[in-house]
Amino acid sequence: MPRAPRRSSVNDSATASEKAVAIALLPWFVLTARDLPWRRTQDPYAIWISEIMLQQTQVKTVIPYWQRWMEAFPTVEALASARSDRVLKLWEGLGYYSRARNIHRAAVEIRDQHDARFPTDHATVLELPGIGPYTAGAICSIAYNQPAPILDGNVIRVLCRVWAVPGDPRSGKTNALLWDLATRLVKATQLFPPQHAPALAGNCSALNQAFMELGALVCTPRDPACSSCPLQAVCKAHRTRRVARYPRAVKRVKATPRRFQVFVVQSGDGVWVGRRVDGGANAGLWEFPGVELAEGMPSEPAEDFLRWAGIRPTGLDALLEVKHSITRFRILTMGHRVHLALTLRTRLEGAQILLGWSEARWVNGETLEALPLSAAHSRIRAAWREACVGPDGRKGRQDPIQTRFRG
Ligand code: SF4
Repeated sequence: MPRAPRRSSVNDSATASEKAVAIALLPWFVLTARDLPWRRTQDPYAIWISEIMLQQTQVKTVIPYWQRWMEAFPTVEALASARSDRVLKLWEGLGYYSRARNIHRAAVEIRDQHDARFPTDHATVLELPGIGPYTAGAICSIAYNQPAPILDGNVIRVLCRVWAVPGDPRSGKTNALLWDLATRLVKATQLFPPQHAPALAGNCSALNQAFMELGALVCTPRDPACSSCPLQAVCKAHRTRRVARYPRAVKRVKATPRRFQVFVVQSGDGVWVGRRVDGGANAGLWEFPGVELAEGMPSEPAEDFLRWAGIRPTGLDALLEVKHSITRFRILTMGHRVHLALTLRTRLEGAQILLGWSEARWVNGETLEALPLSAAHSRIRAAWREACVGPDGRKGRQDPIQTRFRG
């Protein structure tokens, strides 16, 4: 992860090459920038939400999430007053839920300590929960046009290629060098000749967004479009035909496989769900009960359920297998629908302690829909809904709790 920028150990003023980059990049950005909803505002709150959502997530995925979020919580105050379940529900599917929890905590801090006004000072922004050097730089440059540098994966790739930076961008020395470069570049906008385009001179917001845009659309990790790049004439990697060398490849850690059995337990008019305890993975989210299978252990759903809950289910259907990766884990989640006699409910409730839940409930179909679940459990919920067969023989349309069980 990029470190906080420190005061430059090299000359802090922009050099000719940084000026040349600013002169080539700014007009390109003005002509080609995508019309994204968060680019139509200078509200620091709206920009902050977009920047956090865009971490690890593609633009096309973020757009509807950002729009729903801004509709639900148009101001910091509205967000600070919201219940955490509602905040997590609007984040459902984006993953890395600590981002949503930090946004919520930061909103409360802004309301209580800054009079509900988003701070304008870079150092104060940096102190808010979940805001690191990149996000603080993005908010301060885009919303306030401050000469604050940014450095994310896209920007690192462009800088490493244009200046042929040989080191590992995650090492302390190279990372500090890149922050210095990003700082000088954002200051270089002051050198943009105002007679050509007055709006671009000193436009720190456009410069930083131009780097993000170039990294996302042109200077991509594989097959960069050098022939249509505005920096082609100044790019050292391109000039020396060594684009593939930059940035230096980081050795990937081998992914560890993990397998989970997850059970949508249906009994009478309810489905049993629980809420993850604070402080752990997926804190505050709701989920179906489940069990992780030890490495090499054969998987037999009915036996796994029995082993975990101490109860033999009266019916069991396979629903869906979900594969996804989180950090260094490659996860397979196998979802099943289980029917349980009413008399066995209390036996099942006794197993809550094993699940890392702070609370558990039997909920109807409507409540289940409204609860925030992790991405894998949310897909299993959708598969369960689809698998339910109504009294008229139609699938997935009725309140699933009122429907027949196939198992
Ligand atoms: S010329 Fe190619 S390698 Fe250099 S910045 Fe442009 S797209 Fe990236």
